[in-house]
Parts: sequence; structure tokens; C-alpha cells
Amino acid sequence: MKPTLFIDLDNTLLECGAYYLRASDEAASVIAGATGMSPKAAKDLINAIDNAAVYGPQGFSRDRFPSSFEHAAHVATKIYHGKPDMKIGVMCYDIADGVFTAEYALYDGVQKALTELREAGWQLVIRTKGDPEVQEYKIQKHNLRDYVDHVFISLTKTAAEFEAYITAVGADKATSWSIGDSRKDDIEPALAVGIKAILIDPGSNADWQKQFASDKEPTLHAARFADIVNVLGITYVV
Ligand SMILES: [Mg+2]
Repeated sequence: MKPTLFIDLDNTLLECGAYYLRASDEAASVIAGATGMSPKAAKDLINAIDNAAVYGPQGFSRDRFPSSFEHAAHVATKIYHGKPDMKIGVMCYDIADGVFTAEYALYDGVQKALTELREAGWQLVIRTKGDPEVQEYKIQKHNLRDYVDHVFISLTKTAAEFEAYITAVGADKATSWSIGDSRKDDIEPALAVGIKAILIDPGSNADWQKQFASDKEPTLHAARFADIVNVLGITYVV
């Protein structure tokens, strides 16, 4: 039976964090300009609302992220001008919504590493969390289905879902690994279902990941996805 690698998408195969950071900087400057509050305070407000709203009913749906930016603009303008400024709200919504059609470049060496792993006999499975339309856009943009065997997109990453994917692709837990930049999403559920896990350095996404902390230690660490060919060792496979 082939060994299987379950691969996270955002900030593992492709860069996402930088676009989100840029959007919050840009919206903070719009809110600061409209209210007189400092860009730092505006950014803190955006981040607080954004982080809190992740736990609300909209979770990781596409509309939730830009809606949080819009709410931050409404709150700030209400405090400074007595009523929410709808125009500033729409500007901030549009800035945040722009991340969903961003460039999303693949990290260096990703295609080569995927190709080498597959040639070495690995079954490759992308397991990604987010709005289905947005995640599909990123996958198709880079033709990632040509490089992997299966793709699963979901709004959460639970151990139960992981178990179902393992069954669906016929993976052997003894030779299966998970890889990703989130302890909460990519390490914890993998260890819970009994497979090994590699934590990637979250890079520009480090601050965002802090709120989803987990005390579970990965089996291995890697600086970036392309390094895992060496970390796992091609000779691992017969
Ligand atoms: Mg990720």
C-alpha cells in the first residue's frame, strides 16, 4: 500500500498570509484617515473583530472576512462621528474581499517536491479548510489537481473528517502523514487519528496562527514544504 501524505494548502503550498496582512494594513489606513484614530489602533480593531468573528456562525465562509472589515469601519466611524459611515464600510469590505482573487503564488519548489514525492510512490491528498469557491480558485489557478491524487475542501478540519478522508482514499495509517502550518488544524487532528504530522513554519501567518494554539507537538518540523522530500526521505518508499 502506498504511503499517503495529507497536505494543507494555505501557507503550506501557497502564500496567503501576506495578502491578508496587506489588506488589514490598507483598511486600517482608510479607517485612520476617516476617523483620526491611529493606523495601529485601527488595525487592532480590525484584527479583534476579525479574530472574534471566526468563532461566529459565519466562521470561515467567504463573506465573513470582508464583513469583519466592514464592521470594524462601522464601529470606528460610529465612535468618532456618532454614526457608522457606510461608504467607509464598503471600501473596507472591498479591500478585504480582494484577497480572494489575489495572486496566491506557490512557494518555491512546491511543484518539484510534489512531483518527486509522487514519483517515489506517495499518494498525495490536499486537505484544505476555507470557502469552497475560494479554495477551488487557488487549486485551479495552479493546476494542483495534476500533482495530487485527491482534494478535500471543508469549512472545518476535525479529527472525524480526517478519519473519513483516510477511509475514502484507502490510506494506511502506519505510513500516513499530515503536513501543514497549523498546530490546531494540521497537527492535532492527525495525531488524534493516529498518523504522524509535520509542522511547517507559518512564516507571515504566524500571528494569525497564535489564536489557534495547540499544545500538541508534531512528529517533525520543516521550514517549508519543499524540504519534506529530504525530511521524509525518498528512500522511505519501496
Ligand atoms: Mg495552512
